[in-house]
Amino acid sequence: MAVQWLLVCHGLVTLLVVVSFLCGQWPIFQGTFIQRIHFFITFGAYDYFRRLIHFTCGSRGANALLSVEYFCCDRPNPILQGIYLLIIGATYYFIAVSSFIYIPGYYISGVHRYTSLLAVGVGILLFLLTSFSDPGVVNSGNVSQYLSAYPYDNIIFSEKDCSTCKIPKPARSKHCSICNRCVARFDHHCGWMNNCIGERNTRYFMAFILWHFLICVYGIVALALILAGRLKDLKVIYILTVYYGIENSFRRLAPLVVQWLLNSYNTQILIMVFLAVVSLLLAGFFMYHAKLCITNTTTNESFKWHEYMSWQRKVNEAKASAEALKSSLGELNQERSPQESKWRTFFKRSRLQEQQVVKNNKYNKGFVHNIHEVVFPLSTRKSFSVNKSKSR
Ligand SMILES: [Zn+2]
Ligand SMILES: [Zn+2]
Repeated sequence: MAVQWLLVCHGLVTLLVVVSFLCGQWPIFQGTFIQRIHFFITFGAYDYFRRLIHFTCGSRGANALLSVEYFCCDRPNPILQGIYLLIIGATYYFIAVSSFIYIPGYYISGVHRYTSLLAVGVGILLFLLTSFSDPGVVNSGNVSQYLSAYPYDNIIFSEKDCSTCKIPKPARSKHCSICNRCVARFDHHCGWMNNCIGERNTRYFMAFILWHFLICVYGIVALALILAGRLKDLKVIYILTVYYGIENSFRRLAPLVVQWLLNSYNTQILIMVFLAVVSLLLAGFFMYHAKLCITNTTTNESFKWHEYMSWQRKVNEAKASAEALKSSLGELNQERSPQESKWRTFFKRSRLQEQQVVKNNKYNKGFVHNIHEVVFPLSTRKSFSVNKSKSR
């Protein structure tokens, strides 16, 4: 029973961490009820805790907390990396302890003892690759190449220098305040990886999310096959129909089989539910990032576009109002009939309001090109070093 409780706690903590992290990442949750919950989990509750520390321990306690906060949130640190390893290790451990005794089973071969370990191993390898790979750091040595690789669109990126690195800021790059460096085609700083996600490692990041989604699905299928094998080995259907005389129909048998599984294999059922929830979250997160990759946009750029579009809409509205006011005043001066001027004003206004704000993403060069750019980043290609010799 202790294992089940441990598993429930492990599941709840993981989900809380993953959900709050993902909600903070997705722009669709901004300003919504979920975003407010995320804000409370990350900042609101913490603010109360900070006040409590100040109240109980005085300014020395508050200062100590500030140093911890600086270490945890404002500087690169391996805390979330440790939590990831703990989550994947604990999940694999629970599965191995509870279910490996049934492998090989009626529907599952013995090879899955090793393939499951291999799957987790590849997952950890992708994690290490994303964590410790160069995200595309811009320095004085490669800045000229990055400057020619991505032209300025003069909408969301215009020519300027990074005030901290004292080098020109290539289009699509951003200075990461946590790592204190400029990163090309900057996507976001990932706390889980303790690394920026940028031009050179977006491919590993995408592979990491997709692979972990697949591991979860693999786990669910393998556990389902183990349980199906147990049903077969223990002749549960046969006992229910022959011994207890229950009608051999899906409607009559299904609730009894589910009840039997919940009683006898609750650890496996809990793990399956946990894996299903995590896989859904990962699928959503992967689809969000895949859409960005397909349109050759980064998370950083999607925020920038969002800001630009809302600003542009406001400008258009202001223009439309000014234009309507101008035409009303003009018609008043011309002393036209009031009925006619009203209609003319109405149509002029609506025509102006219809002006659509278009997102003109210069870097979007079609599905195939965009995917190719993520899988084979520009800086890994030969043409990138040719640019360097040209610019010299
Ligand atoms: Zn910089
Ligand atoms: Zn960073």
